[in-house]
Amino acid sequence: MKIFNGISASSGIVIGKVFLYLDDNLKVPKYSIEQEAIESEMARFHLAVEKVAEDLKVIQLQSSNMRMEEESRFLDSHMLMLSDPEFINQIKINLGNYKRNIEWVLLMTVKHLIRTLKKAESPYLVERTVDIYDVTQRIHRHLMFNEKISLAAIENEVIVVTHNLMPSDTASMNRNMVKGIVMNAGGKTSHTAILARSFGIPSVLGLTNITDKARSGDIIIVDGNTGTAILDPDEDTLAKYKKRAQKWLLHVEQLNKLDKLSSVTIDGQRVILRANIELPEEVEQVLSHGADGIGLFRSEFLFLKPSGFSSEEDQYNAYTYVIKKVKDNGGVTIRTLDVGGDKIIPDFETTDDKNPLLGWRAIRFCLDRKDIFKVQMRALLRASVHGDLRIMFPMISGVEELEDALAFLEETKQELRDEGISFDENIRIGIMIEVPSAALTCDILAKKVDFFSIGTNDLVQYTIAVDRGNENIAYLYKYFHPAVLRLLKMVIDNAHSAGIPVAMCGEMAGDPLASVVLLGMGLDSFSMSSGVIPAVKEVLRSVSLNEAEELVEKIMQMSSTQLIENYVSEWMNERFDNITE
Ligand code: PEP
Ligand code: MG
Repeated sequence: MKIFNGISASSGIVIGKVFLYLDDNLKVPKYSIEQEAIESEMARFHLAVEKVAEDLKVIQLQSSNMRMEEESRFLDSHMLMLSDPEFINQIKINLGNYKRNIEWVLLMTVKHLIRTLKKAESPYLVERTVDIYDVTQRIHRHLMFNEKISLAAIENEVIVVTHNLMPSDTASMNRNMVKGIVMNAGGKTSHTAILARSFGIPSVLGLTNITDKARSGDIIIVDGNTGTAILDPDEDTLAKYKKRAQKWLLHVEQLNKLDKLSSVTIDGQRVILRANIELPEEVEQVLSHGADGIGLFRSEFLFLKPSGFSSEEDQYNAYTYVIKKVKDNGGVTIRTLDVGGDKIIPDFETTDDKNPLLGWRAIRFCLDRKDIFKVQMRALLRASVHGDLRIMFPMISGVEELEDALAFLEETKQELRDEGISFDENIRIGIMIEVPSAALTCDILAKKVDFFSIGTNDLVQYTIAVDRGNENIAYLYKYFHPAVLRLLKMVIDNAHSAGIPVAMCGEMAGDPLASVVLLGMGLDSFSMSSGVIPAVKEVLRSVSLNEAEELVEKIMQMSSTQLIENYVSEWMNERFDNITE
């Protein structure tokens, strides 16, 4: 049994079989084996070699059909290597000597072989090393069950164990079969974490090296509540977690009963709780949790699917679907394309930005690529006639950028008028406050828009200079940092002085512990993964606005994150049992 402690990214407890999903750059796992396991390791090797031989035959057939004789000749040398008795014998000897797993032994054997070939100083033999690497990689893929299976094609219930997932992987995976996600990389507000929470999939991230230890088919426990993953659990642990998993399900059932109740504090303050979505199909779940509409639709996920860019018609249909669904339930705020940084569009040209998170992303990308922005703007405006739509720009860093975006919006509106296409002439426009420069100039920005929505995921990252997806510095990523709290308070106060409402759609809004602080600061609406709405509602229904304001007054005087965190946790513990579990 091996226990791994990481970051609790999406709550819930699940027990299942590992599906090791590795990319080609990943390290080959290394672990010791017993003498008795040598035979079965060798059998795994032979099986993988057989599969590679089958793959090569198929490729060879295709190549000869297309008269690619040259290509076919290389494949011949690959086939020869697979059946070379000397090579196979060497693997066997090394397996006995090292007593390590076959993936690692294969790698060592190949490295030795290549060193020898290079010493021969024959250009022909040096060229052959490329073939050897190629065939080795093919065998490794089969050994690690890493055939080019996409997460969309998973057919059995599994726990995905991986180094990192691209947003496109997560968005397109088979959500009925992926029961848990465990990753080496990632932080609480990385996009895998956000999606996992939206899909209600328990996840533990930031485990550094679990892919070195896990093998496909191993039993694993994922405890997303505490951020623990347990590989090959012993009987007692398994039994303990089975009970915990059941208890958790009961707890969720209880919480879900709050779906029908309104979110009102004990002194009668109505609090607006909205949902964040990434994909249109999530809207059903939003409605079932009784959300007051959608506070953030991350439109970029329409673009992150393997098929790439989304046409005006496809976007119009997706937006219209969502707008109609929440027409009488609080409407929807759709954020314009927020690509770049860690959200890369598949197959699209990328820049070699040294610092992607500070680079060509979000509104900067859109104002540069007006062809793409125009398509989205037209789709949004056209869809606005179907209900209550608010448009929001991400990553605004100053007033000039906002003016450019607003001018572009006006230009598109005029274009539609000229074409005789109708849209909502009074559509509300807002911006995300997620860059410190925007927070610090929010009094100026507030005069030009209808609402703000605070994106704490990025605001915390840029204020404390801590990459939100980097597990090594996750300990620094804290929204109770006094600098962050001061910015939040300032944004809320300035927006209210200018007469506009402030929402929050960063993950902080969905943290029950933080929700009381935000209530006390005067936040107008909260937007979060729909699955956490009941937990936040439970807390907000049990406190008064008055005491939340007093709490804020107290913590705004405190000097450190730790003091604030401790104070808020104790404050909550006095009122609730297990609120942080
Ligand atoms: C944020 O930054 O808080 C936010 C909601 O946007 P995203 O997580 O998509 O960057
Ligand atoms: Mg953001």
